[in-house]
Amino acid sequence: MTFDIEDWFHIEFTGSIGNWNSYKPRILQNLERILELLQKRDQPATFFCLGWIADQYPELIKKIDGLGYEIGSHSFDHKLIYTKSRADFEEDLKKSLFSIEDVIGKKVKCFRAPAFSINEKTLWVFEIMNKYGIDTDASVFPGKRDFGGFPAFAPARPVIIEYKGIRLKEFPVNMNNFLGFRFVFSGGGYFRMLPYFLIREFSESSDYLMIYLHPRDLDSEQPLLAGLTAARRFKSYVGLKSCYSKLDKLLTDFKFINLSMACDEIDWQKADTINL
Ligand SMILES: [Zn+2]
Repeated sequence: MTFDIEDWFHIEFTGSIGNWNSYKPRILQNLERILELLQKRDQPATFFCLGWIADQYPELIKKIDGLGYEIGSHSFDHKLIYTKSRADFEEDLKKSLFSIEDVIGKKVKCFRAPAFSINEKTLWVFEIMNKYGIDTDASVFPGKRDFGGFPAFAPARPVIIEYKGIRLKEFPVNMNNFLGFRFVFSGGGYFRMLPYFLIREFSESSDYLMIYLHPRDLDSEQPLLAGLTAARRFKSYVGLKSCYSKLDKLLTDFKFINLSMACDEIDWQKADTINL
C-alpha cells in the first residue's frame, strides 16, 4: 500500500517550484483523511514524499513517521526523470533526502520517481540511488503510458535489478492480463475509473499488488488545474467522488503491507534478477 505525498497542483510536471505557493494547499486535510482511514483499518503503508512537501510541512511528515508509517522519497521538484540530466537528478535526489531525513531523523531507503518516469534511457538513476543509500525502488511502470513507462521491463513483480555491479530491489507497478491485454488497475486514474468489484476481482487474482494513490485521488472538491489537455483533464479528475469509499472497501477486504515489510517477506535469493 503506497501513497505519493504531493498536493493537487503537482499533477503538472513542468511547473516551477516558485509558483507552488500561489495555490491554495489541500494536502493537510487530504492526508488527514488517509491517515484516519489507515488507522481505522489498521493497515501499514509507505508514503513517498516530495522533499518540497517536507520543507513546507515538516510537522505533517513527522506525524506520518510518528504514526509508524514508512517514508520514502518522491524527488524534490516532481519533474519527470527523463527530462533531467544525470547531474540534475543527483542534485534533486540529494535535496529531497536532506529535507525528509532532516525532518524524520532517519535514513530514507526507498524511492519512487514522479509519474513513474524511469525508462530504458535513464538507467543511471539506479547508480545515483545506490550512491545515496536507496536500496529499494518503486518507479518502474512496465508498460506504455503518457509519461513514458518502461515497456521493455517485462516482469510486473518484485525483482532484483542488476546494473553496472549495483543491486537494487525493484517493486514495479503490477499489471493484469485479460485476453492477452496487459493493463493496470491498482492506482491513480485506473483505480478511480474502475468499479470496485473489478478492482477486488483483479486484486484477488494477483499474487503481487502495488496500490499507489495520491491525497488528491480522494479529494472531489479540489480545483481544476488550468492548462491541461482534455485527455489529461479526464484522467486527472475522473472517479474522484467514489475513490475514498473504494479504498475503504479495499482496506477492509485485504490485508496490506508496506515496502519494507515486503522486502522482509520476499526471499531475494530466489527472486528473479534483471540485468539492465
Ligand atoms: Zn507524483
